[in-house]
Amino acid sequence: SYGYSTVSGREEKQSRVNDVFHRVAKRYDLMNDLMSGGLHRAWKDTMVSWLAPPHRKGWRFLDVAGGTGDVAFRIVERTGRRVEGTVLDINASMLGVGAERAARKGISDNLRFVEANAEDLGLPDSQFDAYTIAFGIRNVPRIDRALAEAYRVLKPGGRFLCLEFSEVDVPGLDALYETWSFKGIPAIGQRVANDRESYEYLVESIRRFPNQENFAGLIRKAGFERVTYRNLTGGIAALHSGWKI
Ligand code: SAM
Repeated sequence: SYGYSTVSGREEKQSRVNDVFHRVAKRYDLMNDLMSGGLHRAWKDTMVSWLAPPHRKGWRFLDVAGGTGDVAFRIVERTGRRVEGTVLDINASMLGVGAERAARKGISDNLRFVEANAEDLGLPDSQFDAYTIAFGIRNVPRIDRALAEAYRVLKPGGRFLCLEFSEVDVPGLDALYETWSFKGIPAIGQRVANDRESYEYLVESIRRFPNQENFAGLIRKAGFERVTYRNLTGGIAALHSGWKI
Protein backbone atom coordinates (compact mmCIF):
# COMPACT_ATOMS: atom_id res chain seq x y z
CA SER A 1 0.00 0.00 0.00
CA TYR A 2 1.06 3.59 -0.47
CA GLY A 3 1.82 5.89 2.38
CA TYR A 4 2.01 5.25 6.06
CA SER A 5 -0.16 2.90 8.03
CA THR A 6 0.70 3.82 11.60
CA VAL A 7 -0.69 6.91 13.26
CA SER A 8 2.73 8.19 14.25
CA GLY A 9 4.17 7.56 10.78
CA ARG A 10 1.32 9.47 9.22
CA GLU A 11 1.57 12.37 11.62
CA GLU A 12 5.28 12.46 11.11
CA LYS A 13 4.86 12.61 7.36
CA GLN A 14 2.32 15.43 7.55
CA SER A 15 4.36 17.48 10.00
CA ARG A 16 7.42 17.04 7.82
CA VAL A 17 5.44 18.29 4.82
CA ASN A 18 4.08 21.24 6.81
CA ASP A 19 7.57 22.14 7.86
CA VAL A 20 8.89 22.04 4.31
CA PHE A 21 6.17 24.29 2.90
CA HIS A 22 6.32 26.67 5.80
CA ARG A 23 10.04 27.12 5.13
CA VAL A 24 9.75 27.42 1.35
CA ALA A 25 6.53 29.53 1.11
CA LYS A 26 8.25 32.82 0.31
CA ARG A 27 10.50 31.33 -2.35
CA TYR A 28 8.04 28.72 -3.56
CA ASP A 29 7.14 30.36 -6.88
CA LEU A 30 10.76 31.03 -7.82
CA MET A 31 11.81 27.52 -6.83
CA ASN A 32 9.04 26.02 -8.94
CA ASP A 33 10.35 27.83 -11.99
CA LEU A 34 13.95 26.82 -11.35
CA MET A 35 13.23 23.18 -10.58
CA SER A 36 10.91 22.56 -13.50
CA GLY A 37 12.64 24.92 -15.94
CA GLY A 38 9.33 26.76 -16.14
CA LEU A 39 7.50 23.60 -17.26
CA HIS A 40 5.05 23.72 -14.35
CA ARG A 41 3.49 26.78 -15.99
CA ALA A 42 2.74 24.91 -19.20
CA TRP A 43 1.44 21.92 -17.26
CA LYS A 44 -0.91 24.11 -15.22
CA ASP A 45 -2.11 25.79 -18.42
CA THR A 46 -2.82 22.35 -19.88
CA MET A 47 -4.70 21.38 -16.74
CA VAL A 48 -6.96 24.41 -16.96
CA SER A 49 -7.49 23.88 -20.71
CA TRP A 50 -8.59 20.33 -20.07
CA LEU A 51 -10.90 21.51 -17.29
CA ALA A 52 -12.38 24.08 -19.69
CA PRO A 53 -14.29 25.97 -16.99
CA PRO A 54 -17.46 27.64 -18.30
CA HIS A 55 -17.53 31.43 -18.30
CA ARG A 56 -20.49 31.29 -16.02
CA LYS A 57 -21.21 33.04 -12.75
CA GLY A 58 -22.21 30.55 -10.09
CA TRP A 59 -19.83 27.83 -11.30
CA ARG A 60 -17.71 26.89 -8.31
CA PHE A 61 -14.41 25.11 -7.95
CA LEU A 62 -12.28 23.90 -5.07
CA ASP A 63 -8.49 23.93 -5.49
CA VAL A 64 -7.01 21.67 -2.82
CA ALA A 65 -3.39 22.01 -1.73
CA GLY A 66 -3.80 25.26 -3.64
CA GLY A 67 -0.70 26.78 -2.05
CA THR A 68 0.15 30.16 -3.51
CA GLY A 69 -2.81 30.07 -5.91
CA ASP A 70 -1.31 29.23 -9.31
CA VAL A 71 -4.11 26.93 -10.47
CA ALA A 72 -6.95 28.95 -8.98
CA PHE A 73 -5.69 32.18 -10.59
CA ARG A 74 -5.57 30.50 -13.99
CA ILE A 75 -9.14 29.22 -13.66
CA VAL A 76 -10.46 32.61 -12.60
CA GLU A 77 -8.59 34.43 -15.40
CA ARG A 78 -9.62 31.88 -18.04
CA THR A 79 -13.29 32.57 -17.31
CA GLY A 80 -12.96 36.33 -17.55
CA ARG A 81 -13.07 36.48 -13.75
CA ARG A 82 -16.61 35.12 -13.63
CA VAL A 83 -16.31 31.98 -11.52
CA GLU A 84 -15.74 31.57 -7.81
CA GLY A 85 -13.16 29.38 -6.19
CA THR A 86 -11.96 28.15 -2.84
CA VAL A 87 -8.22 27.75 -2.38
CA LEU A 88 -7.69 25.21 0.38
CA ASP A 89 -4.36 24.34 1.94
CA ILE A 90 -3.12 22.94 5.22
CA ASN A 91 -0.40 25.57 5.40
CA ALA A 92 -1.16 29.15 6.44
CA SER A 93 2.19 30.43 5.12
CA MET A 94 1.44 29.21 1.60
CA LEU A 95 -2.12 30.60 1.75
CA GLY A 96 -0.79 33.92 3.00
CA VAL A 97 1.43 34.30 -0.07
CA GLY A 98 -1.55 33.25 -2.23
CA ALA A 99 -3.93 35.79 -0.72
CA GLU A 100 -1.38 38.57 -1.24
CA ARG A 101 -0.91 37.59 -4.86
CA ALA A 102 -4.69 37.49 -5.43
CA ALA A 103 -5.02 41.00 -4.01
CA ARG A 104 -2.26 42.26 -6.30
CA LYS A 105 -4.02 40.73 -9.31
CA GLY A 106 -7.34 42.25 -8.24
CA ILE A 107 -9.14 38.90 -8.05
CA SER A 108 -9.70 38.67 -4.29
CA ASP A 109 -13.47 38.84 -4.82
CA ASN A 110 -13.42 35.61 -6.80
CA LEU A 111 -11.51 33.60 -4.24
CA ARG A 112 -11.61 32.57 -0.63
CA PHE A 113 -8.69 30.99 1.17
CA VAL A 114 -9.35 28.18 3.61
CA GLU A 115 -6.89 26.46 5.91
CA ALA A 116 -7.83 22.77 6.10
CA ASN A 117 -6.63 19.24 5.48
CA ALA A 118 -7.32 17.44 2.20
CA GLU A 119 -8.18 14.35 4.27
CA ASP A 120 -10.91 16.20 6.14
CA LEU A 121 -12.08 19.23 4.18
CA GLY A 122 -14.64 20.42 6.71
CA LEU A 123 -16.89 21.57 3.85
CA PRO A 124 -20.49 20.51 3.12
CA ASP A 125 -21.39 17.75 0.63
CA SER A 126 -22.07 18.18 -3.09
CA GLN A 127 -21.29 21.84 -3.60
CA PHE A 128 -18.50 22.13 -6.18
CA ASP A 129 -18.54 21.77 -9.95
CA ALA A 130 -14.85 20.94 -10.00
CA TYR A 131 -12.16 19.76 -7.62
CA THR A 132 -8.58 20.46 -8.67
CA ILE A 133 -5.33 19.47 -6.99
CA ALA A 134 -1.89 20.18 -8.43
CA PHE A 135 1.30 18.73 -6.98
CA GLY A 136 -0.54 18.24 -3.73
CA ILE A 137 -1.91 14.74 -3.43
CA ARG A 138 1.46 13.03 -3.11
CA ASN A 139 2.01 15.03 0.09
CA VAL A 140 -1.18 13.75 1.68
CA PRO A 141 -0.55 10.73 3.94
CA ARG A 142 -3.87 8.97 3.19
CA ILE A 143 -4.60 9.39 -0.50
CA ASP A 144 -7.79 7.30 -0.25
CA ARG A 145 -9.22 9.74 2.31
CA ALA A 146 -8.39 12.74 0.14
CA LEU A 147 -10.10 11.07 -2.84
CA ALA A 148 -13.16 10.17 -0.75
CA GLU A 149 -13.39 13.80 0.37
CA ALA A 150 -13.08 14.99 -3.24
CA TYR A 151 -15.96 12.73 -4.20
CA ARG A 152 -18.09 13.88 -1.28
CA VAL A 153 -17.84 17.62 -1.90
CA LEU A 154 -18.39 17.44 -5.67
CA LYS A 155 -21.87 17.87 -7.09
CA PRO A 156 -23.20 14.96 -9.16
CA GLY A 157 -21.78 15.74 -12.61
CA GLY A 158 -18.72 17.32 -11.02
CA ARG A 159 -15.20 16.81 -12.25
CA PHE A 160 -12.03 15.71 -10.44
CA LEU A 161 -8.75 16.81 -12.00
CA CYS A 162 -5.32 16.10 -10.58
CA LEU A 163 -1.88 17.20 -11.78
CA GLU A 164 0.98 15.28 -10.23
CA PHE A 165 4.49 14.06 -10.94
CA SER A 166 4.39 10.60 -12.39
CA GLU A 167 6.40 7.88 -14.09
CA VAL A 168 8.57 8.85 -17.06
CA ASP A 169 7.81 6.58 -20.00
CA VAL A 170 10.36 7.80 -22.54
CA PRO A 171 13.65 5.88 -22.79
CA GLY A 172 16.57 8.22 -22.21
CA LEU A 173 14.46 10.88 -20.60
CA ASP A 174 14.10 8.70 -17.49
CA ALA A 175 17.86 8.63 -16.83
CA LEU A 176 18.17 12.36 -17.43
CA TYR A 177 15.24 13.01 -15.15
CA GLU A 178 16.72 10.85 -12.37
CA THR A 179 19.96 12.80 -12.48
CA TRP A 180 18.11 16.08 -12.43
CA SER A 181 15.92 14.96 -9.52
CA PHE A 182 18.56 13.47 -7.29
CA LYS A 183 21.41 15.88 -8.06
CA GLY A 184 20.03 19.04 -9.70
CA ILE A 185 17.00 19.78 -7.55
CA PRO A 186 18.69 19.34 -4.14
CA ALA A 187 21.59 21.49 -5.40
CA ILE A 188 19.21 24.30 -6.37
CA GLY A 189 17.46 23.88 -3.02
CA GLN A 190 20.80 24.35 -1.33
CA ARG A 191 21.81 27.41 -3.35
CA VAL A 192 18.57 29.32 -3.56
CA ALA A 193 16.74 28.37 -0.38
CA ASN A 194 19.71 27.16 1.64
CA ASP A 195 17.69 24.02 2.27
CA ARG A 196 18.92 20.88 0.55
CA GLU A 197 17.02 18.52 2.83
CA SER A 198 13.55 19.83 2.05
CA TYR A 199 14.13 19.36 -1.63
CA GLU A 200 15.57 15.90 -1.17
CA TYR A 201 12.39 15.08 0.66
CA LEU A 202 10.25 16.42 -2.20
CA VAL A 203 12.13 14.32 -4.74
CA GLU A 204 11.72 11.24 -2.56
CA SER A 205 7.96 11.85 -2.32
CA ILE A 206 7.76 11.90 -6.11
CA ARG A 207 9.52 8.55 -6.37
CA ARG A 208 7.13 6.92 -3.91
CA PHE A 209 3.92 8.11 -5.52
CA PRO A 210 1.88 5.52 -7.51
CA ASN A 211 2.36 5.54 -11.29
CA GLN A 212 -0.30 6.58 -13.81
CA GLU A 213 -2.23 3.29 -13.90
CA ASN A 214 -2.12 2.64 -10.17
CA PHE A 215 -3.25 6.15 -9.36
CA ALA A 216 -6.11 5.84 -11.88
CA GLY A 217 -7.12 2.68 -10.00
CA LEU A 218 -7.27 4.58 -6.69
CA ILE A 219 -9.45 7.27 -8.28
CA ARG A 220 -11.88 4.61 -9.59
CA LYS A 221 -11.94 2.95 -6.20
CA ALA A 222 -13.09 6.25 -4.66
CA GLY A 223 -16.19 6.07 -6.89
CA PHE A 224 -15.21 8.23 -9.86
CA GLU A 225 -16.21 7.22 -13.36
CA ARG A 226 -14.75 7.76 -16.84
CA VAL A 227 -11.30 7.96 -15.26
CA THR A 228 -8.60 8.84 -17.79
CA TYR A 229 -5.16 10.38 -17.77
CA ARG A 230 -2.76 12.22 -20.03
CA ASN A 231 1.00 12.22 -19.75
CA LEU A 232 2.80 15.56 -19.85
CA THR A 233 6.42 15.87 -20.98
CA GLY A 234 6.95 12.14 -21.34
CA GLY A 235 5.26 11.30 -18.06
CA ILE A 236 7.31 13.60 -15.83
CA ALA A 237 3.86 14.77 -14.84
CA ALA A 238 0.40 13.35 -15.50
CA LEU A 239 -3.12 14.75 -15.47
CA HIS A 240 -5.84 12.47 -14.12
CA SER A 241 -9.51 13.15 -14.69
CA GLY A 242 -12.63 11.55 -13.25
CA TRP A 243 -16.33 12.34 -12.92
CA LYS A 244 -18.81 12.00 -10.12
CA ILE A 245 -21.84 10.73 -11.97
N1 SAM B 1 -1.05 23.63 -6.01
C1 SAM B 1 0.06 24.55 -5.83
C2 SAM B 1 0.91 24.60 -7.08
O1 SAM B 1 0.75 23.73 -7.92
O2 SAM B 1 1.72 25.52 -7.22
C3 SAM B 1 0.92 24.18 -4.60
C4 SAM B 1 1.58 22.84 -4.65
S1 SAM B 1 2.75 22.57 -3.36
C5 SAM B 1 3.93 21.57 -4.16
C6 SAM B 1 1.96 21.42 -2.29
C7 SAM B 1 0.97 22.05 -1.31
O3 SAM B 1 0.26 21.00 -0.63
C8 SAM B 1 1.59 22.90 -0.22
O4 SAM B 1 1.06 24.18 -0.25
C9 SAM B 1 1.22 22.17 1.07
O5 SAM B 1 1.02 23.01 2.18
C10 SAM B 1 -0.05 21.47 0.67
N2 SAM B 1 -0.44 20.31 1.51
C11 SAM B 1 0.37 19.34 2.00
N3 SAM B 1 -0.33 18.45 2.71
C12 SAM B 1 -1.64 18.85 2.67
C13 SAM B 1 -2.85 18.34 3.21
N4 SAM B 1 -2.88 17.23 3.95
N5 SAM B 1 -3.99 19.01 2.97
C14 SAM B 1 -4.00 20.15 2.22
N6 SAM B 1 -2.87 20.68 1.68
C15 SAM B 1 -1.71 20.05 1.90
